[in-house]
Amino acid sequence: MPKQLFVLSAPSGGGKTTVARHLLATFPDMKFSVSATTRAQRPGEEHGRDYFFLTKDEFAERINQGDLLEYEVIFGNYYGTLRSEVKRILDSGGIMIFDVDVKGALSLRTAFPEETLLMFIAPPSMDALEKRLRSRQTESAEQIALRLERAAMEMQSVEFFDEVIINDILPVTLERAELVVREHIGA
Ligand code: ADP
Ligand code: 5GP
Repeated sequence: MPKQLFVLSAPSGGGKTTVARHLLATFPDMKFSVSATTRAQRPGEEHGRDYFFLTKDEFAERINQGDLLEYEVIFGNYYGTLRSEVKRILDSGGIMIFDVDVKGALSLRTAFPEETLLMFIAPPSMDALEKRLRSRQTESAEQIALRLERAAMEMQSVEFFDEVIINDILPVTLERAELVVREHIGA
């Protein structure tokens, strides 16, 4: 059965954003699932395109309203997938890409077992991951340490994923990700 929900997970800095951008540019019908979060906006990020940036109170209100398909607290902030967005795409027969943590990925598969494909983007090593996080220059040293600590836990979930891509040489990674999507949309 063709898949509609393509879920990218990786430790922070693993390459999800880079892969997601490539897939969105390659598949014009693919929509990005814009998550809600309480974390601060990074330079270059846009509200409504990268995330819906909410206050903690606003996020709590969305939880109470039942608007979130899944949510997690990660690095002290809330992150969650909006139910309305996913329903709209599924109903229209479209395809969607998600950038979520490993728990979020497993929750999405539980909610839509037939429609979901889980892709894990793994860094070639913890050293490489640390270097990429540092060179991205979007987090403090303390935030980077938290992300590396969580990465070790996340790497243990790889066995639950349908496809694992080692993100070493970027063009190879992008080509592989593209191929995985092509294979599963039935094109
Ligand atoms: P994530 O969204 O998973 O946190 P990003 O896509 O932001 O990760 O990637 C983290 C950093 O590593 C970015 O600065 C990105 O440009 C860089 N990067 C991604 N893939 C590679 C790669 N294969 N080789 C070198 N740098 C990479
Ligand atoms: P970042 O702050 O680097 O954008 O994201 C931190 C982590 O939160 C990443 O692992 C990212 O995939 C995850 N994340 C982003 N949106 C969601 C979401 O809607 N749900 C879940 N469970 N995780 C998310």
